[in-house]
Amino acid sequence: MRKILGIIGGGQLGMMITEAAKKMPQHISKIIVLDPTENCPAVQVGAEQIIADFKNKDAIIDLANKSDIITYEIESGDSSILKSVEKNTEVNPSPDTLSIIQDKLLQKSFLLKNEIPVPEFIKINDIKDVKEGLKNFGYPVLLKARRDAYDGRGNFKINTEDEIQKAFDYFKGQKLLLEKFVPFKMEVSVIASRNTKGQIKTYPLVENVHEHNILRETIAPARVTEKIAKKSEDIAKKIMAVLKGAGVFGIEMFVTQDDDIVINEIAPRVHNSGHHTLQSSETSQFEQHLRAILGLELGNTNLIHNTVMYNILGSKEFEGEYKSLKISEDNLFLKMYGKKISKPLRKLGHFNLVGTHNESIEQLLQKLEGLKEKAIVQPV
Ligand code: AMP
Repeated sequence: MRKILGIIGGGQLGMMITEAAKKMPQHISKIIVLDPTENCPAVQVGAEQIIADFKNKDAIIDLANKSDIITYEIESGDSSILKSVEKNTEVNPSPDTLSIIQDKLLQKSFLLKNEIPVPEFIKINDIKDVKEGLKNFGYPVLLKARRDAYDGRGNFKINTEDEIQKAFDYFKGQKLLLEKFVPFKMEVSVIASRNTKGQIKTYPLVENVHEHNILRETIAPARVTEKIAKKSEDIAKKIMAVLKGAGVFGIEMFVTQDDDIVINEIAPRVHNSGHHTLQSSETSQFEQHLRAILGLELGNTNLIHNTVMYNILGSKEFEGEYKSLKISEDNLFLKMYGKKISKPLRKLGHFNLVGTHNESIEQLLQKLEGLKEKAIVQPV
């Protein structure tokens, strides 16, 4: 039976899920996104839209009534409303999984209970707890908001005693946790998937470079030993086995100085560090997500070409309309997300530089250096 797919969120991730869904007309007849921005990116590639806030109860119920299956591109959806619509409409990943993941304290406690390595952490109720935690962890530490935090906006690094009060005030009464700082060698991630029948597959480990806490580059595959790659993929598979949700998950990890793997966080959705799969792999993460939630056999996750993904971010210098970018290059695949307005560090697009002629990662990175200037966004 062909299904109507509902997506909470119609930004770039919803857009690329919509594009993948359009290529599966035998399984999906229509795509509807719930998003507050009129003509959001997903609509520009053929999704219908319910214009409302992601947490609007009536709008979520409306989406559920109109859809056969619901998924999401953001993790801040209201899991209790999603749970209530689950009686009549399939929701994947399941609202129970979402409710664990969207609270960093519950997520880390869940991982710890399942013997999956995470940085040391404690729950914070008041400023005394921060001081107590610092006695055990030492400086620096990260004070983190438990919910609704992404792209590093929910973190405050405390380096010295006089920063404790400032950090605590920064969060203005939000629920918090304190985490030991991991002096990692490298940030990496695994895009993992599990279908409704329990089949699990992972894409090879990739290396992530951040700027201002926002992903800037992904290098596929990560430049690590086979042992580290295997260890991380085994941990990702274990996480998928205990989490039980169906769909694609982005699992962010640190490689420690001793070559151990520690989980930073899990995103219960397709992930920016998986955009390379659009050209590097037979099955993109977006198609894989759909295969997972529809209960289809998962696609091949082998990396066919070395690939480097570069995010096009809004300039810090201005907010407003911007000139379209002109970057054409052999084996460069540019994808803009159709956002009219540039804001500082807003994700406006990305490109993949693909090693179709067997280029090494070093060759691709060298080529990338020459292209970065062309990826700077200018006002009109
Ligand atoms: P998050 O939003 O929690 O994923 O954190 C954003 C970035 O902060 C990560 O990509 C890391 O670069 C850094 N970070 C988060 N947690 C830690 C930690 N425990 N130790 C060191 N760096 C961290």
